[in-house]
Amino acid sequence: MQQLVTIIGTGPAGLTAAIYTARAALKPIIYAGLQHGGQLTTTTEVENFPGFEAPILGPTLMEEMTKQARRLGVEIVSEEISKVDFSTEPLTLWAGDKQFTSTTAILAVGATARTLGLPHEAELMGRGLSTCATCDGFFYRDKKVMVVGGGDSAMEESLYLSKICSEVILVHRRDQFRASPIMEARARKNDKIQFLTPYQAIDLQSDRRGLTGVKVEHQVSHKTKTINVDGLFMAIGHTPNSAVFSPYVDTDEHGYIKVTDFTRTNIAAVFAAGDISDPHFKQAVTAAGMGCQAALQAQRYIEALA
Ligand code: NAP
Repeated sequence: MQQLVTIIGTGPAGLTAAIYTARAALKPIIYAGLQHGGQLTTTTEVENFPGFEAPILGPTLMEEMTKQARRLGVEIVSEEISKVDFSTEPLTLWAGDKQFTSTTAILAVGATARTLGLPHEAELMGRGLSTCATCDGFFYRDKKVMVVGGGDSAMEESLYLSKICSEVILVHRRDQFRASPIMEARARKNDKIQFLTPYQAIDLQSDRRGLTGVKVEHQVSHKTKTINVDGLFMAIGHTPNSAVFSPYVDTDEHGYIKVTDFTRTNIAAVFAAGDISDPHFKQAVTAAGMGCQAALQAQRYIEALA
């Protein structure tokens, strides 16, 4: 039987699309990719996803969504979609060497953490450098760390690390913060977090074991200083994971897939949902909502073919 719906990505957008299309008897297959559960698997407490009186851990929330999808019969494949040809009807996709076709595709592969692009960054990744406090904070118990960024992620990472580390230096290149006032206020109230602005991290110092310090530059006077830290957590936003699809699907200048009429891409059979097509909100609940829209639009597309 022709595969009707292929969903790529298992964050809130992909899993919601899977739940809806499964309930519409479209037998969706969902490709998990490398990070099953998406970015929520690297976060701690979530208290803004409706339905839970108490905060729920991000990984737990995604586990519950996955179980819900499985209960409805969704097939979850732990492989990445490595290539697509969206010029064909039905669409052609590759998971490794395996080639298959699908009437529709829902792209929900989210976005990846950005890094500063400093010299030696790659070799120090995991030896002092990180983009995920929840994943790596454990290794910095009672140590002094730096967080770079001025958004909600930087606040959240700093607050998380303040529970583990002896000291957290929050470095941001401007005096104004992009973070929501409530998150900024929480971080400012925390004795262990020291704000350092307007500074940019410009170089990394290391020895054989890993990172030992970060050189920072004042953005007005251009004076520099080196701060000794054991860890540097980069919390400077994300890049949409659209490269595999961009030969066919229109994206904006930042790589976000362009959608019109909710989740429609420039290809009639291809829909996009969640952070891959949302430069504005990037919330779990908005991603889930877009997943629902993509599912219903894919369903209508399939019904119109009959
Ligand atoms: P963001 O809001 O885009 O903030 C990125 C920050 O990194 C900005 O302050 C930016 O500085 C800085 N930055 C970017 N490139 C940089 C560079 N090369 N060098 C130094 N600094 C750089 O990203 P985010 O914090 O990851 O948040 C993304 C979305 O997720 C937001 O909508 C946020 O509200 C949401 N979120 C919510 C929660 C929560 O509610 N618990 C937690 C995390 C994220 P400038 O400000 O100068 O541009």
